[in-house]
Amino acid sequence: MTAFRCPGCDYVYDESKGEPREGFPAGTAWAEVPDEWCCPDCAVREKIDFEEMGVKR
Ligand SMILES: [Zn+2]
Repeated sequence: MTAFRCPGCDYVYDESKGEPREGFPAGTAWAEVPDEWCCPDCAVREKIDFEEMGVKR
């Protein structure tokens, strides 16, 4: 599982946790998140702006 960080507010989307308040249950892959999805915390950055944090070892 991989996590992605918003460069604007440091919000992190973790695939293993998903984002239930946005309608993405735990385990939702980043690839399944719509490209037009915006950061739920700052609503400024979109999915394409997020930075991959790498695979957890
Ligand atoms: Zn953000």
